[in-house]
Amino acid sequence: MGYVRLPFRDGYYEVRPTKIVALAKNYVEHAKEMNDEPPDEPIIFLKPPSALIGPGNPIILPRKSKRVDHEVELAVIIGKRARKVPAEKAFEYVLGYTILLDITARDLQDEARKKGHPWTVCKGFDTFAPVGPRVVDKRELDPSDLEIGLKVNGKLRQIGRTSQMIFKIPELIEYISSIMTLEPGDIIATGTPPGVGPLRHGDKIEAWIEGIGKVEFDVLSEDSILC
Ligand code: MG
Repeated sequence: MGYVRLPFRDGYYEVRPTKIVALAKNYVEHAKEMNDEPPDEPIIFLKPPSALIGPGNPIILPRKSKRVDHEVELAVIIGKRARKVPAEKAFEYVLGYTILLDITARDLQDEARKKGHPWTVCKGFDTFAPVGPRVVDKRELDPSDLEIGLKVNGKLRQIGRTSQMIFKIPELIEYISSIMTLEPGDIIATGTPPGVGPLRHGDKIEAWIEGIGKVEFDVLSEDSILC
């Protein structure tokens, strides 16, 4: 945990972020399904690097939650230190792209929203940031209009296109790097298209993004494993 080795170019890249910066409500249709208005400026939160897992590891449903949802997202991996980067230079700071599932304890998020508490708990459990199947070099992929989707047990749950993002990758890098320095290996999870829904013990997730590929994860309850 904390880092994941993924295929990259002719070898491997060790994804070892100092932080995972994630976007809330960056697709209009997802904002709607959460009964929310699309935001005027990016809304960001952090997921801890300890939540990272790679292919072959299961997503664990924690005992503390009764409802854990999937959110498939295009993940941008930063290639060099980025501080106060203007949008027009943003892609110079990108290494490449992968898929990240922003796993969310929705019941704990609802509670946090009501109480005005941060999202650290609902977004931060171990295994809540699965990534894969590989890192695609930025020179090999234009991320601006790619199909993005997710199936659970073979049934389609989420489908969209990255062109439906409210704030695009250059604006996100400009905004985030105006607040916090982005380091090589840091991840930006760019938000999820509509269709988020609950996961259960024994589920099999398939997520894909055009040009990156497909990644699969099993879902297990914390009670089903010895830990
Ligand atoms: Mg998300």
